[in-house]
Amino acid sequence: MLDDSIADELGIVPGDILLSIDGEEVRDIFDYRMRVMSENLTVTFRLLDGSLFEAQIEKDEDDELGLSFEEPLLDSCSSCHNGCVFCFIDQLPKGLRPSLYFKDDDLRMSFLTGNYVTLTNLSDEEFDRILSYHLSPMNVSVHAADPEVRKTMMNNRFAGNIMDRLHRITEAGISLNCQIVLCPGLNDGDVLERTISELSSLGENLRSIAVVPVGITKYREENHLTPLSLYNRETASAVLDLVNRWQKYFVRTRSERIFFAADEFFLRAGRAIPPPSWYEGFPQLENGVGLISEHRHQLKAGLASRRRKKVAISTKNSAERPLVMVLSGVDAKPFLNSFADQLAVLYNIKLEVKAVVNHFFGETITVTGLLTGQDIVRSVEEDRCAGIKDPDVILLPDCTLKADEDIFLDDMTVNELKDKLSIPVAVSRPTGEGLLEALDEYTGLFVRKGRQRSPKRGNTSDE
Ligand code: SF4
Repeated sequence: MLDDSIADELGIVPGDILLSIDGEEVRDIFDYRMRVMSENLTVTFRLLDGSLFEAQIEKDEDDELGLSFEEPLLDSCSSCHNGCVFCFIDQLPKGLRPSLYFKDDDLRMSFLTGNYVTLTNLSDEEFDRILSYHLSPMNVSVHAADPEVRKTMMNNRFAGNIMDRLHRITEAGISLNCQIVLCPGLNDGDVLERTISELSSLGENLRSIAVVPVGITKYREENHLTPLSLYNRETASAVLDLVNRWQKYFVRTRSERIFFAADEFFLRAGRAIPPPSWYEGFPQLENGVGLISEHRHQLKAGLASRRRKKVAISTKNSAERPLVMVLSGVDAKPFLNSFADQLAVLYNIKLEVKAVVNHFFGETITVTGLLTGQDIVRSVEEDRCAGIKDPDVILLPDCTLKADEDIFLDDMTVNELKDKLSIPVAVSRPTGEGLLEALDEYTGLFVRKGRQRSPKRGNTSDE
């Protein structure tokens, strides 16, 4: 409850429950937001003692009541009814914290957190209700327009009507971002051609389409899952060629590219990562589409602006310079390494980019965000065994940690990591600017007040 708010004046306290507005049940946060936009309201609460309390409220239309809710949606989040062949949650090892196994697939969370949802587990009535709010954009996991392929991939016989629903979304004037998790041999090639062809008919409210490659952990076999393969140089190149062809079509017909490939396709194909302008505002950055390009741009710009500042840097000889270890997944190392010398000179430090191999999920998992505490410990201990000197500080990107807690996916905390290694650990935002800010803070140069924790994806996609 916000102090001095309408709810506060009414004497509402934590634990009281909002039942209805103007006699209509408040089913979720969207009902609440729509119904509260009025000058005259009748609100009904069930108070902590079980009694009902009704109040007439007169306010400006835009005024909030000042209520806060225990659950972000006001009711429980819908879990998914699919059995997707590529589901990452099915590929987790046993024994992780229970929340990591929760498969949410709730369209309403798409608006609150940016999650991608499949639209398979809501009734026509519920779909109509959410459409009526005109909330935008909607983020949808398409995977395949071919109904049979989609049903098979998602192991759900009701998953075939995706195009009807996508048409209804765009016809309602709602912007749409589409995600396609590509699995070699299942939904790329001709199936992908058909998918993009059908998506291209959605009109100008189609805001973006992105292909992201399936991630495969070492637990697929142990968890008795269908074998899948990873993208290699040849198959990733074929995907990029298809993306390029369709981009040309979209540029011709809409003057924008619309269709993008995740960074991993460029890395697997051995092709150069495009410049930021290629991504047209990075509509699917949270899906790993354009991250390297954006971070590279931030590093270039941040280095240039810091070089322009007149800051006195005491020159130290090589032995005195502190060694900063920047942690990353295997994929990000080459890109970060290309800035290592410039950063070392600017900050008068020694800088090592440490690519941590992911033993926890398997070496095929190469992104930074899925690194665990135990793999970081192992990596540093391997260096020690090889006689390599410890760094003076480790910079840890916070995408490896839970959104609201300094805890890794394997439940190790950052403090435990520090204790196990006896090395200071500084947590940074997982961006180019975040890396520069962490180095500013560590060296005391170019310092800005207060480090900002990055907004976390949580489970941004349903994969
Ligand atoms: S990939 Fe997403 S929609 Fe599919 S089973 Fe997993 S959580 Fe559900």
